[in-house]
Amino acid sequence: MKVKVIPVLEDNYMYLVIEEHTREAVAVDVAVPKRLLEIVGREGVSLTTVLTTHHHWDHARGNAELARLRPGLAVLGADERICALTRRLVHGEELRGMRCRWVAVACAWRAQLSKCIRAWSRPWKVFCGHEHTLGNLEFAQKVEPGNDHVRAKLSWAKKRDEDDMPTVPSTLGEELLYNPFLRVAEEPVCKFTGKVAPAEVLEALCRERASFERAAEPLQPQARALLALQWGP
Ligand SMILES: [Zn+2]
Repeated sequence: MKVKVIPVLEDNYMYLVIEEHTREAVAVDVAVPKRLLEIVGREGVSLTTVLTTHHHWDHARGNAELARLRPGLAVLGADERICALTRRLVHGEELRGMRCRWVAVACAWRAQLSKCIRAWSRPWKVFCGHEHTLGNLEFAQKVEPGNDHVRAKLSWAKKRDEDDMPTVPSTLGEELLYNPFLRVAEEPVCKFTGKVAPAEVLEALCRERASFERAAEPLQPQARALLALQWGP
């Protein structure tokens, strides 16, 4: 089995999971169908299923077009709002196809989700929907300045960024060492937030992360803008 990562839009990832034995493939979060079908064609695989993590346009907007282009395609996800859904997965449902397990998680509360994740197996690979690793680790360093795992991963992520290479996948075991959102019971994380109850620590982290984002990245769209047209002297 292999997983192809396909960067699209500003910093989104689509994934194509290929079972080499059967030449069947599952796509995850199809935002740009044309780009996905190019890769499907190049790999010479048969696309059977689309999995959509959530209904936001940058993860689900290609479903309707893809379903039109590929009649019979299964479009799966855990939320009714996902465009062109053919079957809604229930919380905890496992799809056993290929050589991996797909577990649907429909958690209404972040605290619940964090608990679910911590119960999973540490070697599990983590493929995220956006390339936000650098910003996430800079925030992690602000939360836990003394965490060596954060420092090491951050210097690795900077190198990946310079080389314009994706940082996915990580493993759940790794994330538990440096991701503050999975470390809500750790003393330095509690101290940073000034809270003790895990749900409150998590809420405080989310608020801090949102303001950290705004402070760190206000100039980014301008820095990335390309000149499309110029007229006059
Ligand atoms: Zn998104």
